[in-house]
Amino acid sequence: MEIGDGTLAVGAGRPAAENFAPGLPGPVFAAHYHLAGEASGPFTYGRDSNPTWTLLERAIGELEGGAEVVSFSSGMAAVAAVLLSQVTSGDVVVLPDDCYQVTRSLKGRLESYGAVVRMAPTAGDAQIGALDGARLVWIESPSNPGLDVCDIARVAEAAHAAGALVAVDNTLATPLGQRPLELGADFSVASDTKALTGHGDLLLGHVATRDPALADGIRLWRKTVGAVPGPMEAWLAHRSLATLQLRLDRQAANAMALAEALRGRVPGLRYPGLPDDPGHEAAVRQMRRFGCVVSFTLPDEEAAETFLGSLRLVMQATSFGSVHSSAERRGRWGGDAVEPGFIRFSVGIEDTADLVADVLQALEKTA
Ligand SMILES: *Cc1c(COP(=O)(O)O)cnc(C)c1O
Repeated sequence: MEIGDGTLAVGAGRPAAENFAPGLPGPVFAAHYHLAGEASGPFTYGRDSNPTWTLLERAIGELEGGAEVVSFSSGMAAVAAVLLSQVTSGDVVVLPDDCYQVTRSLKGRLESYGAVVRMAPTAGDAQIGALDGARLVWIESPSNPGLDVCDIARVAEAAHAAGALVAVDNTLATPLGQRPLELGADFSVASDTKALTGHGDLLLGHVATRDPALADGIRLWRKTVGAVPGPMEAWLAHRSLATLQLRLDRQAANAMALAEALRGRVPGLRYPGLPDDPGHEAAVRQMRRFGCVVSFTLPDEEAAETFLGSLRLVMQATSFGSVHSSAERRGRWGGDAVEPGFIRFSVGIEDTADLVADVLQALEKTA
């Protein structure tokens, strides 16, 4: 039976009905389990397996359109699990040169292990030009923070033809925004710290794949480096999934309204949902929701700081995807190719009119 995204999200990963059991069992806190005789699963030791992770992994697997999922203690734990477990000395890796900067910072680590790292931009599917002899291609679309979009199916097909594995960082879109595995990727990877859990109160990540051997490799990596999620975080994440469709729809509608209100008022406005955005055509083909991040560039650092300081409803913070709107001057971190006045704005679930009015009044203060 085909079900809608709201039905999918609210029921994802919940165990079969059992009298007197809760709909969603609480977190299981255990370093070890009773284990007499044969040392076999499902639950042996807390770094290997935990029933609260299992339910969350099942839930995310359903959202990903059917996949094995390995959850991690953070998005970077998941990103590093794929890059460092699948790549070995002499392998060629293709990274986007505009992806999340901590992912990019793994370039040096990979090179120190003897891998060759090539960088190419997300826009224009430019990574296709760097595939010769590649073992793994990393895609991030829409990219963070520049919001460029590539044609994931096209890049994945070219990568497979070149004999490479394909991983997509799907943090910004979430599986209800875009399903990388259905577009041909071998791995869908995400920071679940962001929109998937959406409350800005925990760190988690996951790797999804339909290949059982790849899943085994990722699981073994988690066991050996110990980047395991806490049971409380896993349970909170699962609880948060029930509202995923509601949150994403409201955030996307607010983001679209904000982008439309900002059109013509700020330079460098980017939102993949805007019909005239450079990424829109590719985004429409592969995304079901365009996400909650809008970016634009104010004239300089001072204008950007005045804008941020004048917002009343918007938290000044890094990260994105929370139900609470937040914004930051991205250039304060260094490391991204952005102007000093570049603003990354994460749109929450506040009332649309209130949010737009707050942004416009803050913008007036910069005039
Ligand atoms: C935040 C982020 C990560 C890292 O996630 P953490 O949960 O902070 O470790 C990876 N990729 C993208 C695109 C992100 O935005």
